[in-house]
Amino acid sequence: MATIKEVLFAVARRIDRFEARLLLAHLLQCRREYFITHDNDELSDEVLTRYEALIARREAGEPVPYIIGEQEFFSRPFHVREGVLIPRPDTETLIETVLAEIDRCQAKTLLDMGTGSGCIAITLALENPSLCVSASDFSEKALKVAQENAKTLGADIKFYHGSWYEALSADMRFDMIVSNPPYIHPQDEHLAALQYEPITALTDGVDGLKDLRTIVTGAPNHLTSQGFLAMEHGWDQGQAVRNLFDPEIWCDVKTIKDLGDNDRVTMGRLKA
Ligand code: GLN
Repeated sequence: MATIKEVLFAVARRIDRFEARLLLAHLLQCRREYFITHDNDELSDEVLTRYEALIARREAGEPVPYIIGEQEFFSRPFHVREGVLIPRPDTETLIETVLAEIDRCQAKTLLDMGTGSGCIAITLALENPSLCVSASDFSEKALKVAQENAKTLGADIKFYHGSWYEALSADMRFDMIVSNPPYIHPQDEHLAALQYEPITALTDGVDGLKDLRTIVTGAPNHLTSQGFLAMEHGWDQGQAVRNLFDPEIWCDVKTIKDLGDNDRVTMGRLKA
């Protein structure tokens, strides 16, 4: 037998302190705050054995959200499992940008392409109950997770299966299209650390701009008049993504920075 305090102290030498608490809270089905007032509680050998198994998975590199099956995004819990990208705090920049724009232009319909866990589509729908939200993904695994999240969190979303615009019929148009596509360059050294996540959600396998290009190029066929497109991208892709927007077709093209002061979201509006 050992106390919560002793166990957390010992584990902090092996994995991140915060993650150690997340894993123990998951195991004990309690909130992390519980440990503050119960740090002298003893853990049974059975709990310790199960905790050790979770720590070992984390030590082997598995991301905590896959181990506990959940990641918070925009203050809501999203279910995640292998085969679906784990929501990132960076993507909250896309949410904030789009929310401000919805208010400004009174958009009524929105499409989130490559929705993954559904975190963008579901958050936007819940923050704007009058917005009619659709979401697509080429991965059936991801669509299933997104549908489960929509149901659990109470969001009404129309889902479409297919790669980018192939998921849609030719006549479908939206006031806004948003996306967090795979944009990591296939040679980027950071990819190695992300091996548990679906590679197709991380990189296009070409130059990191291929899918961003596909989305910009096809958007005019699926946006309403003066429709708006916003996409997340890498910190070093701002200029390259702005260049994808043909000035004959688009106006108000600009890049927004994330909280870390990196270029993160580029948006544009179809000319009238
Ligand atoms: N932002 C993610 C990362 O850098 C990548 C997700 C993406 O390519 N859309 O880990």
